[in-house]
Amino acid sequence: MSTTSTTVRYLNHINGEWVTAAREEYKDNINPATGEILGHVIQSAPEDVDRAVQAAKAAHKSWRLVPAPERGEYLYRIGQLLKERKEQLARTLTQEMGKVLVEARGEVQEAIDMAFFMAGEGRRLAGQTVPAELPDKHAMSVRAPVGVVGIITPWNFPIAIATWKMFPAIVSGNTVVWKPASDTPAMACEMMKIIEEAGLPKGVVNLVYGSGGTVGNALVEHPDVNVISFTGSSEVGRTIAAKGGQLLKKVSLEMGGKNAIIIMDDADLQLALDGVLWSAFGTTGQRCTACSRLIVHRSVQQEVERELVRRAQALTLGNGLDEHVDVGPVINRSALEQIDKYVQIGQEEGATLLSGGQIAKGELLSKGYFYHPTIFTNVSPTMRIAQEEIFGPVLSIIPVDSFEEAIEVNNAVAYGLSSAIYTNNVNRVFRAMRDLDTGLVYINAGTIGAEIHLPFGGTKHTGNGHRDSGLAALDVFTEWKSIYVDYSGKLQRAQIDNHPKDK
Ligand code: NAP
Repeated sequence: MSTTSTTVRYLNHINGEWVTAAREEYKDNINPATGEILGHVIQSAPEDVDRAVQAAKAAHKSWRLVPAPERGEYLYRIGQLLKERKEQLARTLTQEMGKVLVEARGEVQEAIDMAFFMAGEGRRLAGQTVPAELPDKHAMSVRAPVGVVGIITPWNFPIAIATWKMFPAIVSGNTVVWKPASDTPAMACEMMKIIEEAGLPKGVVNLVYGSGGTVGNALVEHPDVNVISFTGSSEVGRTIAAKGGQLLKKVSLEMGGKNAIIIMDDADLQLALDGVLWSAFGTTGQRCTACSRLIVHRSVQQEVERELVRRAQALTLGNGLDEHVDVGPVINRSALEQIDKYVQIGQEEGATLLSGGQIAKGELLSKGYFYHPTIFTNVSPTMRIAQEEIFGPVLSIIPVDSFEEAIEVNNAVAYGLSSAIYTNNVNRVFRAMRDLDTGLVYINAGTIGAEIHLPFGGTKHTGNGHRDSGLAALDVFTEWKSIYVDYSGKLQRAQIDNHPKDK
């Protein structure tokens, strides 16, 4: 980063140095609540990606040999620095991305938790030791680092998601080239400053700014990048998967969602309404786990709708730095237009607009990108607003007549990230745990609330079988190596010498 009295310039960080790119082109970083320009971010070219990959490749030679507990020590230091700077980081996050301060603090806490969790893995990284079938032979499996990891992250959780990928990658002996989202360069810069201060050896983590089409694509296609870990839209994920497939590259994808909350007739309605409001309008609906469908039993539909509209209309929109604000802006103008377009689509499809449905106006709100929390009802499960990810504060209510129908509607989308059910019937709880086909399932809680020590990710078009977070993340960044040590001093043939004469 370089700073003058009037401008902040976000630069690449390659091999331990802040550096400009092959061409000196910059893009503005804009505060979505105020329209203010926060700084200018360098736009890199494929040659800058190559430079970062070569640095990571060179650093990998020695980093992979650093004992894993020592690699973990760096993460403890990073975790400590994140903790000390939590408030400052949260404020930067709110300014740059728009989420309200209380949520920004939560996101930074997630990064802290991930640092300490993965630091501990430095002393575990467990494989298996099993008995061998032949005498004087030892059999075990160990995790081996994969090499250079390319990390591509979205803007909605600019620091947490980066740490979900970066920390397991480095504790298991890989080196990293990170391309953050174009809309959130400041958080990437803050993270790199912390990494530098924690004393991580040069080249272990490298940061390259620039557009997805140029920098992200160059990372995916680079022959020396062994793994790509991506979080973002299913549309972009699909193109990355196709390229990774051609190159026989390991690709881990965490993508979109169309998450639902089910409210059954026996639910605690006040509890359910708290969960719906938080899951649908928290982070202005811009979470991959946001609830965008409410599947409600017809016998409680009217009561739920009445109360939900009342509560949604009482939410305060504004700059997330103001502690009284409930809902911040959406990320940029094109997101605002996209949300508005889906609201028109919903009306054309015949859904009933109960609340919101408009870009927010007013002296302060007009400077930023604000959308009124929006609720549609009498939505049918096949409508586009019930099938496609809108990624904004828009909730579609789908009435159903039975538990079985609720499960069927929940599962009848292309995505499979998160689902939730409110019911006090224990049999329904266990059936839902079995039958909801998402990677995350919540009982009597909203679709949001994952903790960093369990796997995070989804089924169907949300993922490709890998997971971020928890110990499952280590599988993305390591290869299993099975090792046999024969100390018999003679040739021993597995499956043959121990079955000399089949009877
Ligand atoms: P996006 O447009 O897919 O972008 C994600 C990242 O990919 C950004 O860094 C982007 O760069 C980059 N990118 C774009 N085109 C690329 C290409 N052709 N090759 C390589 N990289 C490319 O998604 P987003 O708008 O940032 O984030 C919102 C999406 O992320 C939603 O769909 C949400 O559900 C999903 N998400 C999923 C999870 C999960 O864990 N399942 C978590 C959070 C978010 P630029 O910024 O420069 O375009």
